[in-house]
Amino acid sequence: MVSDHAAEHMRYLSTRGNVQAVDFSTALLQGLAPDGGLYVPEKLPAIEPQTWKSATDFPAMAARILTPWLAHEIPDRILASVLDQALNFPVPLIKVGRAWVLELFHGPTLSFKDFGARTMSRLMNHFVKEDPLTILVATSGDTGSAVADGFGNLPNLRVAVLYPKGQVSATQEKQLIVRRRGVRAFAVSGTFDDCQAMVKALLVCPGRLRLSAANSINVGRLLPQMLYYYWAFAQGQWDAADVCVPCGNLGNLTAGVLASLCGLPVRKFVAAHNANDGYPKFLAGHRDAFGESIRTLSNAMDVGRPSNFERLKFLLPEDKMRCRIQGSSCSDENTLTSIRRVYEETGYMADPHTAVALAAAGDQTDPVVVLSTAHPAKFPDTVKLALGHAPRSVPALTGLESMPIRVQSLEPTPDALRLSLESWN
Ligand SMILES: *Cc1c(COP(=O)(O)O)cnc(C)c1O
Repeated sequence: MVSDHAAEHMRYLSTRGNVQAVDFSTALLQGLAPDGGLYVPEKLPAIEPQTWKSATDFPAMAARILTPWLAHEIPDRILASVLDQALNFPVPLIKVGRAWVLELFHGPTLSFKDFGARTMSRLMNHFVKEDPLTILVATSGDTGSAVADGFGNLPNLRVAVLYPKGQVSATQEKQLIVRRRGVRAFAVSGTFDDCQAMVKALLVCPGRLRLSAANSINVGRLLPQMLYYYWAFAQGQWDAADVCVPCGNLGNLTAGVLASLCGLPVRKFVAAHNANDGYPKFLAGHRDAFGESIRTLSNAMDVGRPSNFERLKFLLPEDKMRCRIQGSSCSDENTLTSIRRVYEETGYMADPHTAVALAAAGDQTDPVVVLSTAHPAKFPDTVKLALGHAPRSVPALTGLESMPIRVQSLEPTPDALRLSLESWN
């Protein structure tokens, strides 16, 4: 499956196999394949170690890694500038006890979703030439703010963010409704599922609207999420290492698997889940492992039926998957214990999502990399529950207090959304 012709045209197939191979820009702008499947690369480029091994500059390394993926569709100069602008924050690797924590939360909205959203938006902006394209996103937390922030202020795109009124935290809501150029926030009087149903209804029947979506199944989020895996190995200089990934929709893990299939020496992945443990159960051989989602303290991982599972299964046949990926799951109680134990032993403050992965890292052999997906200051209540005191707030959050907001209430029906979007100009 690996090809060594770097300049070969990369194309994408559907996991369901019923569409012709398309180029990256088509897969990016369509999101879901027309047969309902997820786009996967037809072949994988071999990414040689010299591409990343002695890297000292993240965006420059990113450009070298993505060149075989994108060079035939995007001029080098534009790719380099997209990555310079999108990945303009630090990505430190920190020793915490025996583990190596890769902090992915130094982007503007303090979660790893900034990598995908900021890069994907600039790639879309490059390919959209005529009328502006409206990006729809239904959110119950981190994705919405990363997308609103990452897609705002780009001339060819605008964004409609839908969230269930009263069902996101105060901090999350403030991050969603801050006024941004080209972004509308809609507080829907319904549930997250209503928001998602409204988005789906309009994507299926756009009428005269030009629409796309920015959810975690888009290949435009997958490619940039491979990059920090390389960065961890470049920093750590290991010949091989285990990587522990806090999982929800399995987008992050799928990106890591893609990097390893292109040659990154990951010894083993640990898929660290909260009580939503369908995937670990699947790995353990259960049939019908997936079900309704359960609410937990690591709420960005509360996913019952992970949308990237279909893609992961396509990339790694089941027997190989069980060799390369170990599942684990962690209750809320153990999440709190993990925050407390790590803090007491090392002084490091982990957010609840990172704490789930740190709990799973304890059983592995060195070196172990733990992906840290959110800043603890985003989850002050949970950290306080574990430690007795909340994390210090950070400028990216305190600054929000004084910023102007814009939000519109919306009935939970596709027509209400359609009407609002049609009158947007
Ligand atoms: C989205 C998210 C996750 C889960 O990532 P997936 O790619 O959906 O598996 C984990 N932690 C945080 C903080 C997130 O926002």
